[in-house]
Amino acid sequence: MTAGKSGVLYLCATPIGNLEDVTLRVLRVLREVDLVAAEDTRRTRKLLSHYDIHTPLTSYHEHSGRRKEEQLLERLAGGQSIALVSDAGTPGISDPGEKLVRAALDRGIPVVPLPGPSALLAALVVSGLPAARFAFEGFLPAKGKERQQLLEHLARESRTIVLFEAPHRLRKTLDDLRAHLGNRRACAARELTKKHEEVLRGTLDWLAEHFASRTPQGEFVLVIEGRGEEEPGTGREEWALLAPEEHVRLLQERGLAPNEAIKKVARLRGIPRRELYNKVKLRK
Ligand code: SAM
Repeated sequence: MTAGKSGVLYLCATPIGNLEDVTLRVLRVLREVDLVAAEDTRRTRKLLSHYDIHTPLTSYHEHSGRRKEEQLLERLAGGQSIALVSDAGTPGISDPGEKLVRAALDRGIPVVPLPGPSALLAALVVSGLPAARFAFEGFLPAKGKERQQLLEHLARESRTIVLFEAPHRLRKTLDDLRAHLGNRRACAARELTKKHEEVLRGTLDWLAEHFASRTPQGEFVLVIEGRGEEEPGTGREEWALLAPEEHVRLLQERGLAPNEAIKKVARLRGIPRRELYNKVKLRK
């Protein structure tokens, strides 16, 4: 359904760091629309002035509320066109853009995407991990049952997993991922397209060790290998009800040497190897 004389809501992807990462079409649309609605007006003003664009700018962010949304929708319905810009990357991914898109579509206002930078896609393709099938989870819930349940769900995910994370939460998230997913190949992509861009490829254990001695700084995307072909005794459903030392015995019965079994169980359950070794010894 399209409204006769309504304007268009353009979803404009903008740089995630390097100001050169912007399409010619985005620059033209930013110049031609009646209004730019930006999540972070300071950041967008920098982009506009870099390209000598003088379109009026207004803010639209997660605390903007219904009134602001209504004002934008009224302008669109009245025939004006608006370019929606998130603080970086593609609007609608982990930002309030999604809400405005839905509200515009509900009123029959045309919505047009202008593709371009995306932190999640940039991190995925540079990670070296399989990119054909992936599961993007945005930011993990900060804590509680919701976080726990999502981590348990991710442990069964066979596609490559992509997550956003804030620097002050990175260490905790790496620890939780190790505990639930075991040690897997993983990549931390930091400050992509910026001066201090860094792509760290290794395993979850290695990343946790790396950041144990360095304070995480800047913006991060984590890319984690999906669950591989199951080895016997490694599927969480199989061992969830077993005590750690029973889990070790199960793996031994399936042919693993005692030390190998202890190492694997410690990794899968995220418990120190020495602690597990003592438990197994006590049981003998
Ligand atoms: N809509 C954006 C997109 O499409 O890229 C993502 C917005 S989300 C609110 C912000 C998160 O994206 C950051 O916390 C970080 O995880 C990630 N991010 C944004 N810019 C980045 C960059 N230059 N390098 C690494 N991660 C980045």
